[in-house]
Amino acid sequence: MNTRPLSVAVIGAGPAGIYASDILSKSGLDVNIDLFERLPAPYGLVRYGVAPDHPRIKQIIVALYKILQRGDIRLIGNVEVGRDVSVAQLQEHYDALIFSTGADTDAPLPIPGVDAPECYGGADFVSWYDGHPDHPRTWPLEAKEVAVIGVGNVGLDIARVLAKHSEDLMVTEVPANVAEGLKNNPCTDVHVFGRRGPAQVKFTPLELRELGKQPDVDVLVDEEDFEYDKGSEEALRSSNQQRQVVKALEGYAMQEPEELTASHRIHIHLFQAPHEVLTDEDGHVVGLRTERTRLTGDGNVEGTGEYRDWPVQSIYRAVGYAGSPIEGLPFDDARHVIPNEGGRVMEAEGQPMRGVYATGWIRRGPIGLIGSTKSDAQETIANLVEDAQAGLLHATTEDETQVGHDAMLAWLADQGVDYTTWEGWELLDAYERELGENYGEVIVTSGEAKTRERVKVVSRDAMTAISRGQGAPEDLIAQPHADRVPERVAHRLAD
Ligand SMILES: Cc1cc2nc3c(=O)[nH]c(=O)nc-3n(C[C@H](O)[C@H](O)[C@H](O)COP(=O)(O)OP(=O)(O)OC[C@H]3O[C@@H](n4cnc5c(N)ncnc54)[C@H](O)[C@@H]3O)c2cc1C
Repeated sequence: MNTRPLSVAVIGAGPAGIYASDILSKSGLDVNIDLFERLPAPYGLVRYGVAPDHPRIKQIIVALYKILQRGDIRLIGNVEVGRDVSVAQLQEHYDALIFSTGADTDAPLPIPGVDAPECYGGADFVSWYDGHPDHPRTWPLEAKEVAVIGVGNVGLDIARVLAKHSEDLMVTEVPANVAEGLKNNPCTDVHVFGRRGPAQVKFTPLELRELGKQPDVDVLVDEEDFEYDKGSEEALRSSNQQRQVVKALEGYAMQEPEELTASHRIHIHLFQAPHEVLTDEDGHVVGLRTERTRLTGDGNVEGTGEYRDWPVQSIYRAVGYAGSPIEGLPFDDARHVIPNEGGRVMEAEGQPMRGVYATGWIRRGPIGLIGSTKSDAQETIANLVEDAQAGLLHATTEDETQVGHDAMLAWLADQGVDYTTWEGWELLDAYERELGENYGEVIVTSGEAKTRERVKVVSRDAMTAISRGQGAPEDLIAQPHADRVPERVAHRLAD
């Protein structure tokens, strides 16, 4: 049994990693916690997923900030596990590792034509508009009519950002390159497609109602898309939330034609399964073919053989996020998660990997709101505490001086890794707020003048330099390092 405090590394400073660190720090164990993050900024998808025009949800950052600001959980930013430091090296320095690396890519949608150049992963678009440092700085916004496949909140975010007038996004924290790109967006019509019916869509009521409040954007739903079977009725009976979603959809369907005068529109089409991406002879997207579906009694659907072609020039897949594997850890390729039991990471042989845990979206898959990462962390930490009390947790090194924070930082410095700290994030945070303050007023569609709370710094080098107190480089947007850009979007670096 260790006589010194337990040293634990948490990898991924999104909500799951921060909540897990917080719960562990209050578990009663004598423990030191280092929180690793591959970006120089914490907060994961709250900063790089939640849409910029959702400041209310971004406020969760205030609660997460309070946890990290205490100082007992030490942030080590700009360090990617699997790249800057291996899992085995971490195991030498720490008694236990908790992976909370989330999800950063799109779940696949296997339909013909999906590889056409104008068929985009929704997660990649989100990374662009939220200013993720490792994504190219341009986005090809050239389509007047766009399809979004998927009826969850991410689909709604994408549809809203595409349909909205750019001035109304200019007041948010979007970085300058995104503001510039959106200004030239010619999109007037976004078509959102769902395979199933109103009782099965995954929107949440608040987000769906809010969609209809965008200035000069109408939301349209076809009256014929309201069908229910036994399974649907049961789903509605048991979920107040789903009933509210249906009510909001019905509200859109019942609008009178004279109410629909906006210059931009979001059309929600239900019972339309994506069948094929239609391309011209040069391989460019010219449409989406969908198949009408019908309910089978249990809330599921089957194809009717009735097809319809929608003339769109680009398509966004929003059928779910997916986690990415980390070298040195098992990975479930089908579910895109780290295999685990109650958060204990499992080897292929079905044995727990000693002292290695997972929590959040990388543990359960990309479902659930930010709040659910907290309950998830509770279970993972309860199991870690049980293992610690059973004396199962210890670093792999024989040399005790190599265990913990100071030895880790010395090792990183020795390797030339420009790690950042919590104090560094506070510098960058203040810098971004100042950019917002200095931006001046923005006139939005309603004619109102608004100010900006923050403007994001996008370049990893700039984020790192500001965080390390080395001042701000002139270019806060500079293109990402080519070797960090995901292969699927690397071609856009040359655009
Ligand atoms: C587009 C979108 C919009 C959303 N909107 C809402 C909303 O409005 N309301 C709501 O409640 N929820 C929303 N969510 C859900 C919410 O974002 C998730 O529930 C939550 O972020 C999951 O937390 P996590 O910590 O598991 O993962 P993440 O938030 O993904 O955090 C994982 C962290 O790990 C880091 N990381 C990854 N790999 C490594 C590595 N190898 N080394 C070091 N660090 C690494 C990442 O950089 C990231 O910071 C949204 C999600 C998406 C995708």
